Amino acid sequence: MKVDYLIVGQGLAGSLLAWQLLERGQRVLVIDRDEPDTCSKVAAGIVSPITGSRIAPSWRINEFLPFAHQFYWKIEEQLGEKFFHHTRIARLFREEKQQVRWEKLKVEQAENITPYVSDDPFQVDNAVFHNDLGGFEMSQAGWLDVPAFLRATQLHLLERLGFAIGKLNAEDVNVDHEGLKWKNIEAKSIIFAQGWEGNRNRFFDFMPMNGTKGEILEIECNDVAAAAETRIVNREGWVLPLGNGKFRVGSNYDREFENAGPTEAGKQAVTERVSQFFKPEFSVTDHRAAIRPVIRQSRAVIGRHPEFVRVAFFNGLGSKGVMNGPFIANQLAEHLVYGEPIDDDLDLRKNY
Ligand SMILES: Cc1cc2nc3c(=O)[nH]c(=O)nc-3n(C[C@H](O)[C@H](O)[C@H](O)COP(=O)(O)OP(=O)(O)OC[C@H]3O[C@@H](n4cnc5c(N)ncnc54)[C@H](O)[C@@H]3O)c2cc1C
Repeated sequence: MKVDYLIVGQGLAGSLLAWQLLERGQRVLVIDRDEPDTCSKVAAGIVSPITGSRIAPSWRINEFLPFAHQFYWKIEEQLGEKFFHHTRIARLFREEKQQVRWEKLKVEQAENITPYVSDDPFQVDNAVFHNDLGGFEMSQAGWLDVPAFLRATQLHLLERLGFAIGKLNAEDVNVDHEGLKWKNIEAKSIIFAQGWEGNRNRFFDFMPMNGTKGEILEIECNDVAAAAETRIVNREGWVLPLGNGKFRVGSNYDREFENAGPTEAGKQAVTERVSQFFKPEFSVTDHRAAIRPVIRQSRAVIGRHPEFVRVAFFNGLGSKGVMNGPFIANQLAEHLVYGEPIDDDLDLRKNY
């Protein structure tokens, strides 16, 4: 079998790249191990323009966010299916210095803040949330149903004979000037989009992968006022309403993990984080965990291998895969297919 591009991994990175390559008329084969709890399958999929304890606009927000919106809307229209849920985010301040910082930011970084923030007076139900210090509301926000997007992508690829379940071992890839071969598959290039295990392969063992585990819960509560909340509410932990008194809540950041599975300590950490601002009692109905692929916070790295030009890399989406991924996948596809340059801050060859 001959393809133009062989992609290893059908998480968000591999899926987004596959769409971009298909759009450019390329023949693509994506190989994935098809595991139940990968980072993309566990992710909450939240898109939040202003984030973190420092309350800062997300990296390259004015480029990444509009691109992501356009991309998901286009795929939704093409497939006749909905994945992206436009939902406002109510961001609560946890400490006074965040209030102070916010007032400063609104003036100093107006161009990176104003487009994403609602002018409406900020309100949350004080019977449901601890809101001693106030906050602000983001209008250009929402969440992607990542598992649904991945399933639809997989089906789209299968219809084009572009997906296979399997484990690709980089040792078994033969690469030379003519092309490359893995088993009976010949390709012009291979792209490794393996998530947190990105450096467990002979080509990219020099990449500093710093996997960060996150656990996530689904909860239920019988509180009518809480059930009426439609926004995602965030106070360095978040509550995402799913309807009928059900919520997804998360998450923690664990760099010292022993394995990828859910743990009692992780469940406790998420419960404590959420209980600090969410007042109702709740019961946990589901609990999952996965490891985020982190290289340098959530700043992904793409590009060709320094020596093997037919071997490329797309990884390090961190905790911002949904928002940052579409723009970055587009840039990698432009580079692979047309030789367009990669931005310095994304380019593997310029940073590693
Ligand atoms: C708890 C939690 C909450 C999160 N919440 C959000 C959020 O709200 N918003 C957001 O934007 N991001 C969130 N993220 C982060 C987001 O999930 C990641 O940015 C994204 O999923 C990374 O995608 P990826 O494709 O790089 O990695 P992965 O999803 O890990 O995909 C890699 C794929 O490669 C496959 N693979 C690996 N090696 C091989 C091999 N040798 N052969 C074949 N297949 C292979 C794996 O099986 C996997 O399917 C969250 C993550 C976690 C853990």
